[in-house]
Amino acid sequence: MFDVVIIGAGFAGAVLAERFASKENKKVLVVERRNHIAGNCYDEVDENGILIHKYGPHLFHTDDENVWKYLSKFTDWIVYHHRVKAMIDGQPVPIPFNFNTMREVFPQSLADRLETALLKNFEYGQKVPILELKKSSDPDLQFLADYVYEKIFLHYTEKQWGQTPDKIAGAVTARVPVFVGRDDRYFNDRFQALPTRGYTALVKNILDNKNIKLLLNTDFKEIMRIEDGKIFLLDTKFDGKLIYTGQLDELFDMKFGALPYRSVEMKFETIKEEHFQEPATINYPNNYDFTRVTEFKNIHPVKSDRTTILKEFPQTYIPGENVPYYPIFTDEAKAAYEKYAAEVSKYPQIIPVGRLAEYRYYDMDDMVKRALEVYEEISK
Ligand code: FAD
Ligand code: UDP
Repeated sequence: MFDVVIIGAGFAGAVLAERFASKENKKVLVVERRNHIAGNCYDEVDENGILIHKYGPHLFHTDDENVWKYLSKFTDWIVYHHRVKAMIDGQPVPIPFNFNTMREVFPQSLADRLETALLKNFEYGQKVPILELKKSSDPDLQFLADYVYEKIFLHYTEKQWGQTPDKIAGAVTARVPVFVGRDDRYFNDRFQALPTRGYTALVKNILDNKNIKLLLNTDFKEIMRIEDGKIFLLDTKFDGKLIYTGQLDELFDMKFGALPYRSVEMKFETIKEEHFQEPATINYPNNYDFTRVTEFKNIHPVKSDRTTILKEFPQTYIPGENVPYYPIFTDEAKAAYEKYAAEVSKYPQIIPVGRLAEYRYYDMDDMVKRALEVYEEISK
């Protein structure tokens, strides 16, 4: 009945479904355990009439023209540049930490001196990961690195990951570098925009194909099983490709133990005011149990006498109880993941793709790029 079965209707699953259905006229079944499509990028209009991102703030940005062109077939865009401030000593200042931030937190003469030191050691426009800046031998830069590490990274990272920054892969904190310049935007990519009608509408358009059948509210294990190296779909042997975008440990019943993920409790609040804060997101590295507060009206402007905010409280992931938002990028976790990766490679039919299945910190654009690449590899 189906040539390809895809587990998960997030970006990874939707893009691959679309490719098989439209390029090869294949019959594709997409199985999703939630009651909606779009995975963690799901958005919906809430009771205040505001478009909210149910699983945390999602801002699209990419340097990849192919990804941009591909997605543009399924949506129009509203140009949007995300800006974030971090609350340092009671004052909201721009991050990524840049020359403007220095002028807000240091006296002018010190800011001048640090700016000179940065320009002596790095290129204008360079993004310097905090762990790299900390290795600097220049005493001025050492001072700056210690300040930024303590005020912005150390306590936020401990909250977010339950680990100090040196215990997790350097690429994680490098996502928010020290920026040698005056650009206050959270991302510098060439393309930065929001899908006009939201991410759910975008994914709906990607899946809108006569060859794609979508099954919501269904866990993969309710309709499929793996036995003696064979895959069964409703008791019939299935010989097609199985694209799996869920957790690999779940696929194999945790046989090598549970992989560590980090969860977040997303607490939405209605504020009976027109506006709550000035930027879309304020990070709270040093106070409270939440990491950041996002006001969705500042992302999707709408007239309303109320506003919806989201506070994110990082949590230990407990299977079956909360959502595995982030793989945890420690050496031990990577080693544990490799056991599952070796196991899945014994099944040439099963292709693990996605943030959960590949245990990678994919942003939306990385995910679309990866899904397009996987399709090209398979279809060769
Ligand atoms: P998902 O979106 O997680 O989709 C996987 C789907 O598979 C889920 O719907 C799940 O229910 C389903 N599934 C899993 N197991 C099963 C099963 N056994 N049976 C059936 N269905 C199953 N990216 C950006 O570019 N910009 C951002 O600002 C940004 N912000 C983020 C903020 C947060 C808090 C988080 C967690 C992520 C953010 N991302 C952002 C990343 C973005 O969410 C991911 O890149 C994207 O969701 C990855 O797509 P995916 O298809 O791999 O995973
Ligand atoms: N980070 C931090 N302080 C901040 C912002 C980010 O320490 O104010 C670190 C933290 O470890 C975080 C990582 O940088 O997990 C990546 O931040 P990003 O905003 O990209 O996280 P995401 O939006 O993916 O949760």
